[in-house]
Amino acid sequence: GISSVVLASLIFSAFIYLLLARPRSVKKVLNHALKRGEFVPWLQGIVDKHGNLCGAEVLMRWQTSSGEIINPDIFIPAAEKSGLIVPMTTSMLPELQRYFLQQRALIPSGFVLSLNICKLHFQNLGLVDECREFLKVFPEQSLVLCLEITERELIEQTSLTDLLLKQLDEIGVKIAIDDFGTGHASFNYMRSFKVDFIKIDRAFINTIGSASISASLVDIIIDMAAKLGMEVVAEGVESGAQAEYLIAHNVAKLQGFYYHKPVPLALFSAKFKHYQ
Ligand code: C2E
Ligand code: CA
Ligand code: CA
Ligand code: CA
Repeated sequence: GISSVVLASLIFSAFIYLLLARPRSVKKVLNHALKRGEFVPWLQGIVDKHGNLCGAEVLMRWQTSSGEIINPDIFIPAAEKSGLIVPMTTSMLPELQRYFLQQRALIPSGFVLSLNICKLHFQNLGLVDECREFLKVFPEQSLVLCLEITERELIEQTSLTDLLLKQLDEIGVKIAIDDFGTGHASFNYMRSFKVDFIKIDRAFINTIGSASISASLVDIIIDMAAKLGMEVVAEGVESGAQAEYLIAHNVAKLQGFYYHKPVPLALFSAKFKHYQ
């Protein structure tokens, strides 16, 4: 009867309402959190083949007003879709700058600080100014900044990205291809982007020691990187056996729970002291 038609249309409009209203309310919630400074940088240490700290990756956390810590997988996709990821990323920079300035006497020389940068941000020349502003307090490359761009969202080469890369290079900013092996970057792409680091995705590191085809892909990626003059960072190193294998295969840098887990800035300082 009529009532079931009314009910169906009610359900339908409720469905549409949710579909349309949700992205906006997600954006509202993220924007509100941004204004309150709730997106905070955590750091995960990266080590060299001797196990010494040689860098760190900035990993964003959402620290809500009630004190919960929310991992990026939950909010980064929505942040990217809404474009809010750009101001969210830059909002972490002053705190990071203050922190590393405070720690400058303890930072190992050549320390590389890596920042995840989304495709949208990489189409914005303001990125160069943000990097310059960040680096100006660290004289003569006492801290090296590296921008990680994921292989899954390849950035098209345009005159804008050419200019951006040139200007970043001029101020000493390095480029890493993140999650390598999950996308489809070509040799030409790697060359034209003058990539400094290749970060082998955790999924491949996992296969070390197994007989699967992916395990030999790790060797192929290491070979290719060496031939292209790029350094390799292995992600998601979780065991001594994996570390041993990677070090024996000349992987320069290692990152994973086996060495360091991501921690808030206040807890990261102890790692510097450990290496003094
Ligand atoms: P990612 O850039 O690949 O970062 C590495 C992720 O692997 C981090 O997860 C880290 O905690 C985790 N990880 C590190 N070592 C190990 C290990 O040994 N085992 C395992 N199982 N996991 C390990 P997290 O912090 O949850 O970040 C997830 C993703 O969110 C990041 O992946 C990155 O794509 C994105 N993300 C994080 N922070 C930012 C940011 O500031 N901006 C942007 N655009 N994306 C970010
Ligand atoms: Ca990354
Ligand atoms: Ca370069
Ligand atoms: Ca990664």
